[in-house]
Amino acid sequence: CYILSIETSCDETAVAVVKDGHEVMSNLIASQIETHKAFGGVVPEVASRKHVESITLMLDEAVAASGIKMTDLSAIAVTQGPGLVGALLVGVVAAKSLSVAISKPLIGTHHIAGHIYANRLVGEIHYPCMVLVVSGGHTELVYMKQEGQFEVIGRTRDDAVGEAYDKVARSIGFPYPGGPHVDRMAMESEESIDLPRAWLEAGSYDFSFSGLKSAVLNVINQRKMRGDAPISAAIARGFQESVVDVLVTKAIRAVKAYDVKQLLLCGGVAANRGLRTELTRQCAKEGIDLSIPPFEYCTDNAAMIGAAAYLKWREQYFTSLDMKADPQLSLEAWGSNTLD
Ligand code: ATP
Ligand code: MG
Ligand code: FE
Repeated sequence: CYILSIETSCDETAVAVVKDGHEVMSNLIASQIETHKAFGGVVPEVASRKHVESITLMLDEAVAASGIKMTDLSAIAVTQGPGLVGALLVGVVAAKSLSVAISKPLIGTHHIAGHIYANRLVGEIHYPCMVLVVSGGHTELVYMKQEGQFEVIGRTRDDAVGEAYDKVARSIGFPYPGGPHVDRMAMESEESIDLPRAWLEAGSYDFSFSGLKSAVLNVINQRKMRGDAPISAAIARGFQESVVDVLVTKAIRAVKAYDVKQLLLCGGVAANRGLRTELTRQCAKEGIDLSIPPFEYCTDNAAMIGAAAYLKWREQYFTSLDMKADPQLSLEAWGSNTLD
């Protein structure tokens, strides 16, 4: 089974060909970061226009690079949501057109299911498993009793962790997207400052990062008012320590409470070195089987969408051509084929 997959939910135009849900035949990404940097973040209208410019050529290139012919494809998969509606729309229209043109079924796919199934690109997944999703728009703990079944047991009540990284990065002078800069600075810093951790009510698997973000801004502003020298490196490290402490502690508590066989990490912030290192260390100590995708499969890409779409291929569950891009698409409903 060869699935051609398209991902345009945010600021990456990506197309891939994936064999049998785990073998990457080609995986192309055109990042728009340079374009959006000038605005300090993603501008939706600009993102859509850039996707339109790139998508047609990338479809041809991804198929050419895979070594198979367009007519050998088994299905066309596309990110249906969540994401920016205008950006999603470009991928959805391209996928529908191609599906009609070459008479192959369409598979609308959930972006976060894609991030989760990036783990399938590097090995088997052992169910039941727990997933820690950390990305630009999501921070969730997802329990998977079996393949394709998603239960969100915890989520952020305010900012996503990637969003908090990007805001803190901006406040200490880094360009968008600032997550990787804060990560590097935190890993290199010898100093750290104490920042709060939002544990929330006992037993809760939810997250909150807006208080931490405000604490960082307060430290910066107070020092500015007093005329003290900036301490960006110590802030970066203190921030990263707080984030990593909460994420790792809650993920490991969830693994124990749900008695799962494996813990999966995914999403753009899974590229964070501090998080990868600490989670690896704690899982080794606790005897927990941990899966982390390589860097290129952590941030947005289309191969992960092909891996998730394969679940639907196996069920021969296809998407109607009336399908609409849905910025609020539910992960649980997508998994159980109960989208309306
Ligand atoms: P979502 O998947 O929730 O729709 P998204 O697709 O925009 O959001 P991703 O592409 O998965 O998000 O991740 C991008 C985020 O990851 C950005 O916020 C970026 O700053 C963050 N990020 C990337 N690398 C690192 C890193 N090394 N440390 C911390 N954050 C990082
Ligand atoms: Mg992105
Ligand atoms: Fe993403």
